[in-house]
Amino acid sequence: MRHSISQSKRIVIKIGSSLLVDDNAGMIHHAWLNSLIEDIAFYFNQNQEVIIVSSGAIAIGRRHLKLKDHALLLEEKQAAAAVGQIKLAHAYQEALGKYDISVAQVLLTLEDSENRERYLNAKNTLETLLNLKVVPVINENDTVATAEIRYGDNDRLAARVAQMVSADTLVLLSDIEGLYTADPRKEPKATLIPEVTQLTPEIIAMGGHSATQYGSGGMITKLAAAKIALESGCKMVIAAGKYLHPLKRIDQVKTKTWFVPQLTPKNARKNWIAQHLKPKGTITIDQGAYTALKEGKSLLSVGVIQIQGEFHQGDPISILTEDHKEIAKGLINYSAQDAKKIMRKKSNEFANILGYPGSDEIIHRDDLVLLAGEKT
Ligand code: GLU
Repeated sequence: MRHSISQSKRIVIKIGSSLLVDDNAGMIHHAWLNSLIEDIAFYFNQNQEVIIVSSGAIAIGRRHLKLKDHALLLEEKQAAAAVGQIKLAHAYQEALGKYDISVAQVLLTLEDSENRERYLNAKNTLETLLNLKVVPVINENDTVATAEIRYGDNDRLAARVAQMVSADTLVLLSDIEGLYTADPRKEPKATLIPEVTQLTPEIIAMGGHSATQYGSGGMITKLAAAKIALESGCKMVIAAGKYLHPLKRIDQVKTKTWFVPQLTPKNARKNWIAQHLKPKGTITIDQGAYTALKEGKSLLSVGVIQIQGEFHQGDPISILTEDHKEIAKGLINYSAQDAKKIMRKKSNEFANILGYPGSDEIIHRDDLVLLAGEKT
């Protein structure tokens, strides 16, 4: 099998509202949820890492609050989400608890993926949860996200999460079973596209037709998610989720669309650091650190001899040799102020100097790119 869930290492799974919640009654489909969780527990027990991005808070909350069928006002949606989210998280906790899997609720806003400091904090929390063998269950923080600062759809939120944690696979489970050449309900000759490697204008146009369910933002937000995923080196699959054991089913059926990137998540991230980020400061390093970087190691504070510029944790930095040659770029783990305090020091002294332990590396090797010609 060329692409499969069973071969994935770090999987982000987006669950659409319509799969999880009966819209009329606002009840959770427990039989379906249990079968999904059984699949997740299976992969989890094979040491695959899983993050769930689940919709459904508003659908559950609006019925509970007996809000009628009119289009909800923003504040009604927020109230519904506040009530629904607690029930949603509880349902996941209960279902995963049967397999002794711990669950964490993480609510994100658009700003958490746009602002670098918040991005890094969210990323670090998610990484820590995964290391602690917890399954994060994520939703948008609907109660504080007002119209202008909302994702509004969990397809793109899930893709941002996949990008944040360098996931290798993003699964979009919904009522859409894949990308068709045209709307299959209108065009009997429409065919399913099994694999997409590039989002060409033709592919974008295929998702653009505006039939009710198929096109009401459904395919459009999925292609927007695909764009984020492909640029992050993450594979993405769109598959129908309405069946029991929807995850295992993906590897068993032909009806699905895989979006396949040309890069690995690590290389995508390095390209982004090298090409898209303007350095906010410079760090000059000694010969020992230079040799270590060329061998693919991280930058440690002992090798730093000068720091210039005003920057924050997570900012892009240019790395120079003693003779002022730029040799690398990277994302720094410290602000300029703190980096200056710990330069030339060993990491076991950081806690005393800074008042918090901090990371051993000033720039981790995964966040560091050697410029052309610098690799040994
Ligand atoms: N965050 C919304 C909810 O949980 C759902 C957004 C979406 O369906 O994509 O109700």
